[in-house]
Amino acid sequence: MSMEFIRRLAMPAEVKELCPLTGNMNEAVSASKKAQEAVFEGKDNRKILIIGPCSADNEDSVIDYISRLCPVQEKVKDKIVIVPRIYTNKPRTTGEGYKGMLHQPNPNEKSDLFKGIIATRHLHMRAISETGFACADEMLYPENYQYLDDLLAYVAVGARSVEDQQHRLTASGIISPVGMKNPTSGDFEVMLNAILAAQHAHTFIYRGWEVQSDGNPYAHAILRGSTNKHGESQSNYHYEDLTRLCDMYAKKQLQNPACIIDTNHSNSGKKPLEQPRIIKEVLYSMRHNEEIGKLVKGFMVESYIVDGAQKVGGGVYGQSITDPCIGWEKTEQLIFEMAEML
Ligand code: PEP
Ligand code: MN
Repeated sequence: MSMEFIRRLAMPAEVKELCPLTGNMNEAVSASKKAQEAVFEGKDNRKILIIGPCSADNEDSVIDYISRLCPVQEKVKDKIVIVPRIYTNKPRTTGEGYKGMLHQPNPNEKSDLFKGIIATRHLHMRAISETGFACADEMLYPENYQYLDDLLAYVAVGARSVEDQQHRLTASGIISPVGMKNPTSGDFEVMLNAILAAQHAHTFIYRGWEVQSDGNPYAHAILRGSTNKHGESQSNYHYEDLTRLCDMYAKKQLQNPACIIDTNHSNSGKKPLEQPRIIKEVLYSMRHNEEIGKLVKGFMVESYIVDGAQKVGGGVYGQSITDPCIGWEKTEQLIFEMAEML
């Protein structure tokens, strides 16, 4: 019952020196953030689509996947702003299982966190330089955010982290839009409190420093469904859920009221092929009710090259080793259908 200190890890500034931004990577990141900010401010009517595998398990298949999004983005650019998911650290309900590229750059080999830090930075950089997309990641460990802060176009705080003070305070200093998920219990109040905290300035301890954040005016809600006391999935993307969120938002003093619908997780009951139907239902609600139409700024979809999921070491190229995803052909069709409906 103790903790062995294995080695001191490089500081974010050292890692950035080892793997610096090159060429016009900076511009790609700024352009994506600017486009999203205009959507969150209601100045741009397009919708945001955060889409990609549950976990970025393999550099080549993730880059292959994101490259496929390029021609699709070009075709739907008047309707949709695509932000690919590169999720490099995974929360695990029991602590067991694949914890992401940060822990295991190769899912079949043992954990190596220094290699993991470099691998995650390398993957995000490769996405920008080879596809032009700056991407989204989850902030599972607030102290690691600085390793990637110059590369990320979007950050999510997960359902298991959103009630945690350090996540909320760090989110207030994040330099891209940050989505706060509803907790697994489904309580909207917890999520809105997290948004309130993230939108305000704070002084706190971070990486051994006393720091001062500005507050993030683009902190917003992500609805991902919940789990009830019987362990069953309960969706929260329906009309009544969305009007309830509109009403709750109206009672708070929050900047840029906004919501992204996560169509997988407890919203699909991890049935990824339900995601297109869920998007269509929400788009219908958005048309029917102007307030919902304004509040919902986009979707988060779990998608990869091959439908479904496999066990770690399963060997299927482009199939998820965490949550089951919708495969490429259906994804492409979904994005075109979504653009047509907008
Ligand atoms: C995810 O987005 O893959 C994820 C782990 O989400 P959540 O925090 O909603 O479970
Ligand atoms: Mn997932």
